[in-house]
Amino acid sequence: MSIELINIWYIVAAALFIFGLKQLGSPATAVRGNLLSSVGMFIAVVVTLFNQEILSFQWIIVAAVVGAIIGAVAAQKVAMTSMPEMVALFNGSGGIASLLVGWAALYNVGNTTFTDITILLSIVIGGVTFTGSILAWGKLSEVMVSRAVVFGAQRIFNAALLIALIVCSVLFCMDPAVDSPYLYAVIGLAFLFGVMAVLPIGGADMPVVISLLNSYSGLAACAAGFAINNNILIVAGSMVGAAGIILTNIMCKAMNRSLANVLFSGFGAVKQATKVEGEVKPINTEDAFLILEAAQSVTFVPGYGMAVAQAQHVVRELGELLEGNGAEVTYAIHPVAGRMPGHMNVLLAEANVPYDQLIEMDDINPRIDNIDVAVVIGANDVVNPAARNDENSPIYGMPIINVDHARTVFVLKRSMASGFSGVDNPLFFGENTRMLFGDAKESISSVVAEFKG
Ligand code: NDP
Repeated sequence: MSIELINIWYIVAAALFIFGLKQLGSPATAVRGNLLSSVGMFIAVVVTLFNQEILSFQWIIVAAVVGAIIGAVAAQKVAMTSMPEMVALFNGSGGIASLLVGWAALYNVGNTTFTDITILLSIVIGGVTFTGSILAWGKLSEVMVSRAVVFGAQRIFNAALLIALIVCSVLFCMDPAVDSPYLYAVIGLAFLFGVMAVLPIGGADMPVVISLLNSYSGLAACAAGFAINNNILIVAGSMVGAAGIILTNIMCKAMNRSLANVLFSGFGAVKQATKVEGEVKPINTEDAFLILEAAQSVTFVPGYGMAVAQAQHVVRELGELLEGNGAEVTYAIHPVAGRMPGHMNVLLAEANVPYDQLIEMDDINPRIDNIDVAVVIGANDVVNPAARNDENSPIYGMPIINVDHARTVFVLKRSMASGFSGVDNPLFFGENTRMLFGDAKESISSVVAEFKG
């Protein structure tokens, strides 16, 4: 296939990516959007295989088979609750792939200075993304401490690391060669920088890291696209890079923080929230049912615990029973609830909750005083009033869903344990709060059973 024809097919693929992305913006069209983008990617892959410069189809087939097996097994085996970790690993894979593509491009003859710079960028950004994502995976899966890790002189160390990385990068670009010692130094420093950049970020700041690494993986792919002069890689990479930056911005806004503050302040590392004390008022499912039966308006506030319990289907069932009973039912969605952007939307869409019942934080808060019962299902940080009231709290300033302003609050969780950020929650001791202890799915199922008589 001629290079002109390949590029025409690339334009078709790029158009499918763009329309696909656009349709992903609404749950009603998201499935079609996903399909369109997949068709675009399929075209891009097939067309690329017609490239005359391919050296070894055998290795490509081996890689494709191995990749397909890993993907198929992961799709079957990985629990829905582990999706955020999986996304982190995907970002990391994108990063290391770009690093390897950039590295391989060094073997091409006749590279221009521009190409050498893009090769360097794909190696540096790819390397940072790789180790940064592995660390993010470790924090999300809690195989390592999920909080921010800070130590004395950390900023000085990181600044020195950055300077060393820049110096080695410049020296490498002055004489780019596959066996340049500066190449190995750049790769090693980029790996180390990825670790050091993510180490001081943790707790409630993790959503920002995930979306930022997502953006980096796109930028690395874009640079790799320039390095090997592949248009579709440039287009797809820049789309992922831009989408990631937009998401990062949304996440920062959701936490009321600037990006610089998230990256450099070390979440919760210095602050210690005021100790919360008071009386906890447990409630059983029979009493919860009686209160819900009398309610005119109920809002469900889902969080990570709903994903753990896989309670979304019974929650929808309870929502329908309440509606049948004459109550107005809504679902209040916090942008960073769960462990990945859009986590709650995905779960509720899976359970066929009507999309018009999903209300964003900014829209529910002004109405929350008039809500009879706010049912918090495995959410914790995103409903923590300390973010509003306690200046010493590490999450102070983060907008929350003000469930404590509702007439009655039910909190469904298994214990008094804190949420992802490790911060105590005064909501549990509130005058109008009732704790419904237990697995969220079991608790809601019991209430549903009461409704059904
Ligand atoms: P939290 O992590 O604050 O709290 C979840 C709560 O769910 C826990 O307190 C836990 O309490 C409860 N829970 C766990 N399993 C069950 C179960 N089976 N049944 C009932 N309850 C259960 O979740 P939120 O959604 O409120 O907040 C998200 C946090 O994660 C924020 O700090 C956010 O910044 C962070 N984060 C978000 C990301 C994103 O992109 N959305 C990415 C990374 C981090 P108990 O153990 O007592 O049951």
